[in-house]
Amino acid sequence: MATIFSRIICGEIPSYKVAEDENYYAFLDINPLAEGHTLVVPKKEVDYIFDLDDETLSGMIIFAKKVAQKLKEKIACKRVAVVVLGLEVPHAHIHLIPINSESDVDFRKPKLTLSPERFAQISAMLQE
Ligand code: 5GP
Repeated sequence: MATIFSRIICGEIPSYKVAEDENYYAFLDINPLAEGHTLVVPKKEVDYIFDLDDETLSGMIIFAKKVAQKLKEKIACKRVAVVVLGLEVPHAHIHLIPINSESDVDFRKPKLTLSPERFAQISAMLQE
């Protein structure tokens, strides 16, 4: 069965898109730690990031870099943190999280609750 991220990539499940190319898709995490918290995924469905072939993995990092640069430009933050957990969804993904301190990357913290309108605004802003 296709992962939830494959279903998002093909448009079967809606998402707040951030960026896309032939091989990768970036969209807002639905349970964000910060405004702009983005997931970068390869369109190729592979569970564990280090099982990706070298070309897909290196391309994914370069794609994530472009997305992170856009996040840094549009969202007030000191840095964009890069996190790989992959414990919940079996489809390789990189979390990009705008942060101002180390504690902003604590996944045990309560997540932000954003309105659909705010998600849509952030998605549009990041695609400008
Ligand atoms: P991880 O696998 O890295 O532990 O966590 C998966 C992440 O995917 C979580 O932060 C979760 O909020 C996010 N996520 C899970 N399902 C969906 C979904 O249907 N849409 C979006 N946008 N994010 C999701």
